[in-house]
Amino acid sequence: MLDIIPQFELQKFNTLAVPVNAKYYTEAASLDALAEALAWVRQHKLPLMVLGGGSNIILKDHFPGLVLHIKISGVEVVKETAQHVWVKAGAGENWHGFVQTCLSRNFWGLENLSLIPGNVGAAPIQNIGAYGIELCDVFDELEAVSRSSGQTEIFCLQDCQFGYRDSIFKNQLLDQFIITSVTVKLNKQPALHLEYPALKQAAAQIEESLTPQKVSELVCQIRRSKLPEPQSLPNAGSFFKNPVVSQDCYDQLVRQYKSMPAYPQSDNQIKLAAGWMIDQAGWRGFRDEGVAVHNEQALVLVNPGHCSGEKILQLAEKIKQSVTQRFGVSLELEPRVYP
Ligand code: FAD
Ligand code: NAP
Repeated sequence: MLDIIPQFELQKFNTLAVPVNAKYYTEAASLDALAEALAWVRQHKLPLMVLGGGSNIILKDHFPGLVLHIKISGVEVVKETAQHVWVKAGAGENWHGFVQTCLSRNFWGLENLSLIPGNVGAAPIQNIGAYGIELCDVFDELEAVSRSSGQTEIFCLQDCQFGYRDSIFKNQLLDQFIITSVTVKLNKQPALHLEYPALKQAAAQIEESLTPQKVSELVCQIRRSKLPEPQSLPNAGSFFKNPVVSQDCYDQLVRQYKSMPAYPQSDNQIKLAAGWMIDQAGWRGFRDEGVAVHNEQALVLVNPGHCSGEKILQLAEKIKQSVTQRFGVSLELEPRVYP
């Protein structure tokens, strides 16, 4: 039986701790509950917002429709060979919990993605990535329910059109599907990825032999040392995507800014570090009443004052304008703004 709650307070359900309400809220812990919720929202002709851990959203105002919190749980091995194991997780599983479960069972490959907030179902939306690994490196397939037909469809790696913090679910299929499970293909033999500078440096200081479990611990340590934990300092992680520019654009920039970090991508493109540009533009540590730019990483905006989404977005806009003015590079928001 569907439990629809009116005027539901969302402050605890978004990691920026923005105090707004949903006109209606419900949870779906099964495919049947999901189908009922979709039917309800169609019947009442209301907008729908699908919610996971709320760590990549900015709530600009009260949500005028139904917030559907995905709670589908379960982790199971669905296939196994001598070298690999395919593990399927329900969309409502906490991402870091899933990583830990896999590590505890000696299934390797997710260690660099430790401690990313949020749930499994949102991981494909922006092809989560950290410390040199992205979801697409281990992804096998996902199941998703069409919001219009209610049918379940399977998406393989190619179908998802994963890119840098991007997927088909942010583009052609925006708001078309609700992801209900994700299957990853993991290794039975460790294959460590320690190329990312901060991780390489931390690993170099370890005397014992490195295991994936140890790599996960190092990633957690590095993250805790510079990224604010939303429970104590509300934030939504990186506020802007790292811009990817042409080689020509980069050549011009580096003539003026000799120490500008740059990471070559495919197709002669160069990824710039948005955090570095924001820092250079003088924003690191800036505080405007209850909203601030994090001191350890200027890419992260924090909301200790539990201010409105509007106020956070005003600061973001000022930062964006000053980066454009200084570098001629346009920054794009990473979290999704609702409504
Ligand atoms: P939500 O914020 O709940 O939702 C995000 C979007 O996905 C929304 O549009 C929502 O509608 C949609 N969505 C959620 N679940 C589903 C579903 N089941 N089906 C369809 N659509 C769905 N990201 C990285 O990539 N790398 C990092 O290292 C990283 N570090 C972070 C550190 C901090 C401190 C914070 C706060 C955030 C960080 N993030 C990072 C961003 C965020 O954690 C990820 O994007 C995460 O995948 C969001 O998951 P969520 O469940 O919280 O999604
Ligand atoms: P960092 O190490 O200070 O590096 C700053 C930026 O430079 C990062 O955004 C990273 O891009 C890029 N970078 C550094 N070394 C690189 C390399 N060898 N190759 C390619 N790109 C490189 O970053 P941080 O803030 O501490 O974050 C550490 C990791 O966690 C990063 O991978 C970051 O993406 C991830 N993270 C993501 C979020 C989020 O909300 N999306 C929040 C916190 C942390 P990439 O971002 O492409 O890696």
